[in-house]
Amino acid sequence: MELYKYSDRIYYSAYEEERDRPALGYIRGEKFSVAIDAGHSDDHLNEFYEELKKHDLPLPSLTVITHWHWDHSFAMHAINGLSVANKRTNEHLLEFIAERSPEHDKEFLALDPSIAKEYINGKEIVVIPADIVFEDELDIDTGDLKIRCFTAVSPHTDDATLIYVPEERVVFFGDALSGVFPTWIADKGKTEEFIKAIDALQVDKCIGGHWPIYNKEDLLYELRTRE
Ligand SMILES: [Zn+2]
Repeated sequence: MELYKYSDRIYYSAYEEERDRPALGYIRGEKFSVAIDAGHSDDHLNEFYEELKKHDLPLPSLTVITHWHWDHSFAMHAINGLSVANKRTNEHLLEFIAERSPEHDKEFLALDPSIAKEYINGKEIVVIPADIVFEDELDIDTGDLKIRCFTAVSPHTDDATLIYVPEERVVFFGDALSGVFPTWIADKGKTEEFIKAIDALQVDKCIGGHWPIYNKEDLLYELRTRE
């Protein structure tokens, strides 16, 4: 796994299609650091932590989850520090936990080949709810940086959190640009709402889970011209 430097205080990892591992984000704060998304499993997370250590970056004290999907949240049990999610994300996680059974786990592994690859050789699936739950928005002050986490309408899921760092002119948006898994059909109205949310931010770059880093204008163009 590679770790990319956006600025002295913002980093993000490579994403991987094979095991559907999203890019994980990192914000280095003066008092503490914050990660964006936990990852697909503890294997994914630990590779990310190894990269942070190689770059002399402290492990995150907080990990903010962009949405409940397994590839972003199922490593929450193994994070350093505490996890943060919006209320809807946490409800989805609690629903998944309540539905769990050997049969349900089998169905989960069969959802997509990338999931079976992540959980190869009977690797245990561990799902836990978030430590800290917020509604609508949450401001985090790392001492030298202000981070604004807020919920947004997205065509991907009903629980998107955007993580906005105004001073660094960057936003992390998870998978919020996508349509719904697994058809990838994107509701036009929800896409419009998401466009408005991104357009309103004073950012140059937008970092998502499964794409190269976007210029804001390119992301907006792609969304506006999507069939
Ligand atoms: Zn997703």
